[in-house]
Amino acid sequence: MEKQNVPELYGSLVFNDKVMRARLSEDVYTSLRKTIDENVSLETNVADAVAEEMKNWAIENGATHFTHWFQPLTGVTAEKHDSFIAPSPDGGVLMEFSGKELIKGEPDASSFPSGGLRATFEARGYTAWDPTSYAFIKDHTLCIPTAFCSYSGEALDKKTPLLRSMQAINRQALRILKLFGTDANYVRTSVGPEQEYFLIDQEMFNKRPDLKYTGRTLFGAMPPRGQEMDDHYFGVIKPRVNEFMEDLNNELWKLGILAKTEHNEVAPAQHELAPIYSTTNVATDSNQLTMEIMKKVASRHGMVCLLHEKPFAGVNGSGKHNNWSIGTDTGINLLSPGKTPYENAQFLLFLCAVIQAVDDYQDLLRLSVATAGNDHRLGANEAPPAIISIFLGDELSAILKAIKNDEPYEGTEDVVMKLGVHSIPKFRRDTTDRNRTSPFAFTGNKFEFRSLGSSNSIACCNIMLNASVAESLRQYADELENAADFETALHELIKRVITDHQRILFDGNGYGEEWIKEATEVRGLSNLKTTADAMPHLLDEKNKKMLMEHKVFTEAELQSRCEIMLENYVKTVNIEGLTMVDMVRKNYLPSIERYLYRLAETTSLMRQVSENVKCNYEVSTMERLSELTDHILEAVKKLEGVLDTFKGMDDIFESSAYVRDEMLPTMDELRKYVDEAEMLTSQKDWPFPSYGQLLFSVS
Ligand code: ADP
Ligand code: MG
Repeated sequence: MEKQNVPELYGSLVFNDKVMRARLSEDVYTSLRKTIDENVSLETNVADAVAEEMKNWAIENGATHFTHWFQPLTGVTAEKHDSFIAPSPDGGVLMEFSGKELIKGEPDASSFPSGGLRATFEARGYTAWDPTSYAFIKDHTLCIPTAFCSYSGEALDKKTPLLRSMQAINRQALRILKLFGTDANYVRTSVGPEQEYFLIDQEMFNKRPDLKYTGRTLFGAMPPRGQEMDDHYFGVIKPRVNEFMEDLNNELWKLGILAKTEHNEVAPAQHELAPIYSTTNVATDSNQLTMEIMKKVASRHGMVCLLHEKPFAGVNGSGKHNNWSIGTDTGINLLSPGKTPYENAQFLLFLCAVIQAVDDYQDLLRLSVATAGNDHRLGANEAPPAIISIFLGDELSAILKAIKNDEPYEGTEDVVMKLGVHSIPKFRRDTTDRNRTSPFAFTGNKFEFRSLGSSNSIACCNIMLNASVAESLRQYADELENAADFETALHELIKRVITDHQRILFDGNGYGEEWIKEATEVRGLSNLKTTADAMPHLLDEKNKKMLMEHKVFTEAELQSRCEIMLENYVKTVNIEGLTMVDMVRKNYLPSIERYLYRLAETTSLMRQVSENVKCNYEVSTMERLSELTDHILEAVKKLEGVLDTFKGMDDIFESSAYVRDEMLPTMDELRKYVDEAEMLTSQKDWPFPSYGQLLFSVS
């Protein structure tokens, strides 16, 4: 691979601040900057000037088309390309792009899910430029990040509510900072998502209809060697994977995505990529792009990148860690303990805001990561349980305990700690004692939400996180703004929050059975195991009220989202069910039958030759395989019946419960018999590549 000059390469396909400053007139640049930083709306003449330069820059860099790039509720990104060309009077073409085209687009929205938000006669939606994310070039196309709305103004995408949630937390956090006299113009949340994925050989992939249609294997017996050797994690990266990673990094760097670390993960063929963190909406766009480019680059290398949460049963699935923090434009990370008592009190208040938010809105965080794919991971001894709790680590826990009990903390020299008066000692950032089993862990100056599935858009969980923390902050600001004595009120407030929300704090083993018992029976934490259980809570009164009060969602948007997410769930599982039937009827049963025929033929031939042969192997295998084919037939018939009943259901709550209670268990049963049959059948007669062949397909 040719050597790259990274600083030159980096951001070369992005219309970023550097390009804007260099190419736009000073007036235009200043107005655009104001729009980006302070949400001031853009004048038409400024938009026209920006569009003109954006077009010129794009053409110079090889673009011929432009598209409004958006994130509909399907979870993937959408784009519709238009070329810049317009006929010129002399019969030739001009390359045109106006401010109007930059600001607003009208994709045919009827094929995107809207959950009833767009009336059928009004199948139009529009896209609106989000100047806070930079435009970029991909596949000869200038991509303009946009929000996607219905004509009545309802959000049909994931980005709009994310931007609204960022505004909500900004509004409330500024109120708090004002009380502390902290200098800031705005507050933003930042995210660094760590992305896991699998790479398998393209040819092997092509031979598996389940992978092709559903992104995961629906059958497959465990290989003799899985991840038990623990030698893949941080192991030497294979040459072919290395080339892929190099290529991927280059592509991402060109798009201004700060791909930083890469390593092998726990399972064979599993890897991880982490970028350097950025502002939440930018991080969200970047993560969507990263996933898309991973797939594209993998295929250039004869491989397929699997982003499914659980491509292989019995092997670790893939997740995404959402590292989240909140900071000011003046460079303060509000989740970083400071040097002065005041800074530390401020830090503790923001910490409390997160603790309370996670406790009060456990269900929202849980449902924000709920998909059919992620249901296979959560609580399966590889990922955090479906129960949400917070890990703080020893030192911070000790400090909170001291405050709660009015006890001295060792660092405060035997004086009972009164916030605003006593300093909390500077933290040792603890990287040794990492609790990997906690869904929500404090890691020194940020929180790491670990329940996300690898294919999840990070928009969803950050909407909930931002909004719920905004709600804690709102309550605190209401209380403290009216306090007679700020310091006393602050101390009381922090003490009260720590006391009231103890139940959400848990530093122990989140994978253990005892924790599930304690969490649900003693602490009363919610344990929403599946998407069907979690999603309806989006419409709980308390959740609706909070999200609407902070103007993150309207009621109609919430209803439509709940419906769409449940629809995604049932459709996904339904396709899996249909694929299983197809594979069993057309391939597995006929293959086993062929093998049985060979066994039977062999047995009778052998017996013709000698009466002394017992044919124990042939006969016992035949007997068990024949039993299994009967079981498989029963199970597949049952599944067909379930799929049929499902087809006739139209209430989404009813059908998602049916999928959870009937469809998935029937699929599991069918799989169990087929997997056993795989172990008894000669590999030559087995119709699809085995787990071993898939997982060790890339050298
Ligand atoms: P690991 O979790 O593997 O030890 P790090 O903690 O260094 O790795 O970082 C993981 C991710 O967290 C990276 O994407 C990093 O950019 C991001 N990150 C680091 N600091 C912050 C922060 N203050 N806010 C948000 N994300 C952060
Ligand atoms: Mg991490």
